[in-house]
Amino acid sequence: MSLVVMKFGGTSVEDPTAINRTAAIVAGRVAAGKQTVVVVSAMSKVTDQLLRAAAAAAQGDRTGALAISSRLRARHRDTACALIKTPADAAALCNLIEQKFDSLDEILRGLAAILELTPRISDLVVSYGERLSSRIIAAAFTERGTNAAHVDAREIIITDSQFGKAVPLDVLIEKRAAEHLRPLLDQGKVPVMGGFIAANEQNITTTLGRGGSDFTAALLGGALAADAIEIWTDVDGIMTSDPRVCPDALRVKVISFEEAAELAYFGAKVLHPATILPAVRKNIPVLVLNSKNPANEGTRIISIAPHCSSPFKSIAVKKKLSIIDVVASRMLMTHGYLKAIFDIFDKHQCPVDMVSTSEVSVSLTVDSNDKLPLIAADLSQLADVKYEGKKALVCLVGEDIRGQSGMAAQVFSAIKHVNVRMISQGASEINMSFMIDEEDADEAVRSLHAAFFKEPDPVVFDVESRKAVV
Ligand code: ADP
Ligand code: ASP
Ligand code: MG
Repeated sequence: MSLVVMKFGGTSVEDPTAINRTAAIVAGRVAAGKQTVVVVSAMSKVTDQLLRAAAAAAQGDRTGALAISSRLRARHRDTACALIKTPADAAALCNLIEQKFDSLDEILRGLAAILELTPRISDLVVSYGERLSSRIIAAAFTERGTNAAHVDAREIIITDSQFGKAVPLDVLIEKRAAEHLRPLLDQGKVPVMGGFIAANEQNITTTLGRGGSDFTAALLGGALAADAIEIWTDVDGIMTSDPRVCPDALRVKVISFEEAAELAYFGAKVLHPATILPAVRKNIPVLVLNSKNPANEGTRIISIAPHCSSPFKSIAVKKKLSIIDVVASRMLMTHGYLKAIFDIFDKHQCPVDMVSTSEVSVSLTVDSNDKLPLIAADLSQLADVKYEGKKALVCLVGEDIRGQSGMAAQVFSAIKHVNVRMISQGASEINMSFMIDEEDADEAVRSLHAAFFKEPDPVVFDVESRKAVV
């Protein structure tokens, strides 16, 4: 029997209507005879609000923090009441919701007393989003006749202790999935779990980083050797650029693992950057689908995508980046200079996105803006340092960039009105990226899109929908 892991993002579970749609989609898969594991995000915007409540509490704004919690309590309670009509089930669920919010309020009061928010407590506070949504959704599935079983993701997704962005421990996850999920699946049940949340080996709550529910689904898909991982979201699939920025973006019908990973890493929020890895390891296709338009075939991410006559598949943008210029005239001709610089980024656990070097100067881009003053202080022991924020990295991805001459000229002529600070081409054969001011980014994407998606290849792009709109 084929097994599918289905992940529903925040907008797919944002209110009773969305949860009903999600329940119908899952029921469809079950009716088609598939073993199904469901992973859900917190209801939309809940994670942001929990983070705001924690920050307010830790700054001493106890009333503000509790007010956010009280609004969230009402939203979850109302959603549960709208979905669950069986009196005993409704009472049990509402009771559970009240208990969870009572314990959340206790943590918020504690934060307001000690005035300090550690990454560990932050993870505990945000975990409430997925812990609540998964309970409500599991109950809604049961109410609609799906044989659902709620599973606390923290029993299965085991990570190290890097709170805020913990690293999963694959061997343990595989073992836990075999012990806890397999028997449920064999009994014909549909396990329903929160994404994003996890625990370390001591049972302390951790999280996989923002947008991490996609990653949870992929980890489970890998652990259970699923036949497919489905990422259900609010757009028709991976598009040729963010449709919010570029309204005439087209759906990409099929894309390779490598291209999708590159797009996710370089800012295409539709997929968490780590999602692809577990799928690649076991060669499991990933589908990106729209819960508001389930009939659409979405995007299929597979190991080898068909040849495409267009050079690029999609354009991603990563904003809120900084550029650091390091100039070390006194290090002219000395070796070990780059190593010394990278050691500093390593010490601060700060990933570098792009690098450009000359004999004595290095420019680097990073997105850990909060760490910059400390990094700059360390670098200034070696060299003169300048840094500047509000930058954006624009990244064009496509396997068919390979071997196409004159591509850089075409790209930069499409955006000749924009000031380009750094360029990277050739480091990866499937991407071409450059750094510009954040305020120019959306316009640059639209110009590039207009230049490169005039005659999209119908094998790869959904050109029919463009025709339908015209
Ligand atoms: P979810 O809550 O379902 O995880 P996200 O908000 O994380 O959804 O991701 C979906 C959003 O990603 C879309 O609404 C869209 O604005 C954005 N996005 C950015 N780049 C792309 C792209 N290339 N294709 C599709 N969506 C994209
Ligand atoms: N709820 C988490 C977030 O908003 C994880 C997710 O939605 O994927 O980041
Ligand atoms: Mg997401």
